[in-house]
Amino acid sequence: MTAAIPSHKRCPRCRESKPAGAFYQRRNGRLSAWCQECTRRASSEASRRRHANAAELERVRAVDRARQRRHRWLRRQAKGGEAA
Ligand SMILES: [Zn+2]
Repeated sequence: MTAAIPSHKRCPRCRESKPAGAFYQRRNGRLSAWCQECTRRASSEASRRRHANAAELERVRAVDRARQRRHRWLRRQAKGGEAA
């Protein structure tokens, strides 16, 4: 499968236009919105914040669980009438 990936992309976070190689590629073939540098920085900041606040960590986990449940439900719906 070949997805159309632009050779350059502008990162909305640092506002720099960077080559596609500077962005993470998602499983769906698209490039992540932020460049690798911004993604790394944001995730390390986020994890530092989460570790600093156990309650926040628990909240994030709960949201994640809910999202996964919904995702599984949607996939079941999409499959439709498979033999039980
Ligand atoms: Zn960036």
